[in-house]
Amino acid sequence: MNADPYAWLEKSMDTVRRADWYRSPQSIESCPGSVVKLAGRRLINFASNDYLGLAGDDRLMQAAVAATKEFGTGTTGSRLVSGHRDLHRQLELAIANLKQTEDALVFSSGYLANLGAIASIVGKRDLILSDKHNHSSLKNGAMLSGATVLEYTHCNVEDLGALLDENRASSYRKCLIVTDSVFSMDGDLCPLPQLLDLAGQFNCMVLVDEAHATGVFGAFGAGCVEHFGCSGQPLIQVGTLSKALGSLGGYVAGSSVLIDFLRNRAPTWIYTTALTPADTAAALEAVKIVQQEPERRSRLQQNIKNFKYEAISNYQLPITNSLSPIFSFPLKDAATALAASSKLKEMGIFAPAIRPPTVSVSRIRISLMATHDVAHLQQLVSALRTIAQL
Ligand code: PMP
Repeated sequence: MNADPYAWLEKSMDTVRRADWYRSPQSIESCPGSVVKLAGRRLINFASNDYLGLAGDDRLMQAAVAATKEFGTGTTGSRLVSGHRDLHRQLELAIANLKQTEDALVFSSGYLANLGAIASIVGKRDLILSDKHNHSSLKNGAMLSGATVLEYTHCNVEDLGALLDENRASSYRKCLIVTDSVFSMDGDLCPLPQLLDLAGQFNCMVLVDEAHATGVFGAFGAGCVEHFGCSGQPLIQVGTLSKALGSLGGYVAGSSVLIDFLRNRAPTWIYTTALTPADTAAALEAVKIVQQEPERRSRLQQNIKNFKYEAISNYQLPITNSLSPIFSFPLKDAATALAASSKLKEMGIFAPAIRPPTVSVSRIRISLMATHDVAHLQQLVSALRTIAQL
């Protein structure tokens, strides 16, 4: 037998290339911001999740440098062994204060927070109801838990209600409804108050992923839970420190007993190295800024309004109409989305082509920042009008 057991890799990559699904990273050669340097050129950045413009903020960088000088680069172990620093606890208390929850727990990424939380609170005798458009970390968390997973039609409360009616009374023990609050690809918001009503009716827990909402929605920046007036309700909130908070890491926020349970049972928290001092300190600084500078959210909301007025009302461009800073410009196939993204680059705009398998319909994903100015938005709209011809 001389067969090469790895030969399938080349074949698999040929298939990826033939479908125009091939992906590779592009190097940003500058600090994050509304304008970034890419392959030697300065482009207006509509590709990042840095909604408040904090990832390149001097105060976060100073906090990261100071924490590194005091505590070093690595934490050397997991939180329960040698990795815990008082900075982690300060950040957890700051997140709990922002979210108006009893407590919070910081994970090394939002992905790990979702995997760990879902897989530890439900198991094989339980039921998960999951929105069809949920993020990969929620879907994989659901799979890892071993629970029965039923997907409901995107944001469709009637479908969720029907699935609950049909399945909740059967032999399942616990039931968990899982949803993004702001969906990462279309930017639309989940119907949180209605989901909570159904959860109350059918005795279900609810886990909501506030990754794209924290810092962006709510008068104090707590996210969609605050935006919908649902703070204080029985909820499990998950999120990331890597989007509006400009750092790296993730968290779960909720009741003290939930957080205590996760500290004892969530494998993606127990068995991984604690978040670095630099990331922790930068996120702590960002939470303060989110609470103390609501004007950043106002500027972001103004940019969203201006962009929608120009792109949708004025030029009827076919973009999703969202309350969030995320917009999607659907295109007919993956090749067209790739061509549109490189055309945008020629016109000074950085906005990625998102293709299957990430999404079912290829598109350009646009994300706005508080730090974009009027000229940036005008240039975007004019470039989108060009790609609308493709
Ligand atoms: N949830 C959602 C909705 C996300 O979009 C992301 C990141 N793309 C994550 C979770 C994962 O967060 P992190 O990048 O911190 O792992």
